[in-house]
Amino acid sequence: MSKYWDNETVYSQPTLQELRDKVKASNANAAKKKLTYDPIKPFSRRNICTSWWGQAWCSNLEQYADYATRLDRGKRYVKAGTVIDLQIKKGRIEARVQGSRKTPYKVEIRISPLSQESCDRIIEKCGRRIENMESLIKGELPSDLQELFTAKGGLFPSPKEISFDCSCPDWAIMCKHVAAVMYGIGVRFDENPFFFFELRGIDVDRFINVALESKVESMLNNADNISDRVIVGADLTALFGVL
Ligand SMILES: [Zn+2]
Repeated sequence: MSKYWDNETVYSQPTLQELRDKVKASNANAAKKKLTYDPIKPFSRRNICTSWWGQAWCSNLEQYADYATRLDRGKRYVKAGTVIDLQIKKGRIEARVQGSRKTPYKVEIRISPLSQESCDRIIEKCGRRIENMESLIKGELPSDLQELFTAKGGLFPSPKEISFDCSCPDWAIMCKHVAAVMYGIGVRFDENPFFFFELRGIDVDRFINVALESKVESMLNNADNISDRVIVGADLTALFGVL
């Protein structure tokens, strides 16, 4: 353990090796109990996220002074693989973070669902273009949505829309375990931006319907332009002898 001073209180910080050993023990314990964890695996890249939307999520967190005290430690924790379980649900994240104690801390973060108006805005903006839908299926958030997320009053939550609990004894507004989970959410978004839709209560089925309707509309509009190269039903019958 190494010691450091923080507001006149001495805290013990576990070393990386100590954290790794504890993560290993907790995972073994979970396997014994047949619990299924969905971890943020340890990584060494400098930036937490690589996509524009993941990076925008992190910048959104970092602009709020309320959270400043523990963010750096949260970064260290998420990189060390201490977020051994992270589940994103509608309006809620449940996670387990390994700290200095044997039992991992339980973290719960609640994020208010978006207003109906904001949901409509993103569905209209994104769903009306099938290329956007195709990007999402490939795990990419179209770059023309960037402003929707990053503008003031955009789709990322502000501190008043976020509340959290951690089972650790830290007094800070945001402890390092919550901070690690917040960064872990960014890593999840990096992998699959649909988690963002799930978290903020955007109805993915409705989103897909808008995209499909718009695709059908554009196909109908183009129907008059079918060229001779297109084989229509009658030609298929002639070609294959299908009755
Ligand atoms: Zn904590």
